[in-house]
Amino acid sequence: MGDQLARYRRKRDFSRTPEPSGADGGAADADLPRFVVQRHRARRLHYDFRLEIDGVLVSWAVPKGPTLDPAVRRAAFHVEDHPLEYIDFEGVIPAGQYGGGDVIVWDAGTWQPHARRAGAHVDPGRAVADGELHLDLYGEKLRGRFALVRTSTARSGREEWLLLHKRDEHAVEGWDAEDHPYSVLSGRTNEQVQADPYRLWRSDLPAVAASVALKPAPP
Ligand code: MN
Repeated sequence: MGDQLARYRRKRDFSRTPEPSGADGGAADADLPRFVVQRHRARRLHYDFRLEIDGVLVSWAVPKGPTLDPAVRRAAFHVEDHPLEYIDFEGVIPAGQYGGGDVIVWDAGTWQPHARRAGAHVDPGRAVADGELHLDLYGEKLRGRFALVRTSTARSGREEWLLLHKRDEHAVEGWDAEDHPYSVLSGRTNEQVQADPYRLWRSDLPAVAASVALKPAPP
């Protein structure tokens, strides 16, 4: 338990003070945009993969979760942007509200777009609009080079994409998100958060006020 609390203390401020990831020699630093992956048990379990781009969280719902396995391609549905305030939300969305269920911060860190031509500038917003974004992630679970590629747009306007990990030194054959169920924020599982949530997300309130504390999180 002591370890878990210490871990929580270390992690809780990640969204305000992203730390360099020295151990792996990653390029992460405080100037890079952030990302979060939230494991969300709503009507169906999915992982929300969110990238900070131009002041919002550009988001995909990934039913089976991101993977480090370069042999696997995950379906990812482009969903509406979320406010930046949501980036460190972990708790419960009340039943009956959009996304009602429980949410953990499954992974978090920084990211940067990868230019396929050396030295080229990548505008991430434009890359998303164009349907192809290559990126490096500097998270706790997710590291290395990924690609997001749009494959189709349904008549509903819902875009289907693929999320995949490239073959690099961070790739791990057979790696599955469901084998790594703990929050990087609190060390808790979705089940534990559901049973004893610290926060509610009130989507009926403005984003700055929507994350409502129910009780103090551990110090
Ligand atoms: Mn969701």
